[in-house]
Amino acid sequence: DSQKAAAVILEALESAMYIIDTQREELGRLDAVAGDGDHGIGMQRGLTAAVDAARKVRAAQAGAGTLLTAAGDAWAACAGGTSGALWGVMLCSLGHVLGDTVMPDTATVATGVATALSEVKQRGKAQPGDKTLVDVLQPFAAALDQAVARGISVAVAWKDAADVAHDAAQKTRDLLPRIGRARPHAEKSIGTPDPGAVSLALVIGSVGEVIRR
Ligand code: ADP
Ligand code: MG
Ligand code: MG
Repeated sequence: DSQKAAAVILEALESAMYIIDTQREELGRLDAVAGDGDHGIGMQRGLTAAVDAARKVRAAQAGAGTLLTAAGDAWAACAGGTSGALWGVMLCSLGHVLGDTVMPDTATVATGVATALSEVKQRGKAQPGDKTLVDVLQPFAAALDQAVARGISVAVAWKDAADVAHDAAQKTRDLLPRIGRARPHAEKSIGTPDPGAVSLALVIGSVGEVIRR
């Protein structure tokens, strides 16, 4: 049921918070190459606020959808920056699709991630190839969609799609930023992966470790 899903999602957010804590300086370094260097601190602030909000919702026995939307709202309010607003959009989109009633299956999770992708594109106006987190979110959503057709569990589907996300983040190295704060110094960023793409792949990977248990 959704209570069980809420417990797993809280654990997943906590696990994401720990990995981002350890990678905060590296993410800041990546963002300083062509951006303003605040991506590590922004992700840490956003996830800390999201976990805090999720713990409160969980203590009140709410379901997965309510937990995700509360976490997304807190993230957007506290993180600042472009990525903070977009992470808020992603968690809220996922929360609206998962809802509060049943344990989400692979098809529901895939629809949730696909909705998050379309909302992020609508809000941020980035297209694939612009060197943003969309370059990870889009192939991740596509991999989950393929898993639905293959009829596999959420845990296995997420693990396979997390590998796709990791590779996609590394591939942003070769891209030239066409949107966001890195655009004015675009050529400096060649050879360095997009910080928002890297952090999204890190979060997806740490969530996968939790779902697998
Ligand atoms: P800011 O750029 O406001 O300082 P962050 O440093 O926290 O915010 O986040 C930067 C990351 O946000 C980029 O690496 C990129 O992945 C992502 N990003 C920036 N603009 C957009 C956009 N319009 N659409 C999607 N992602 C974006
Ligand atoms: Mg920045
Ligand atoms: Mg900034």
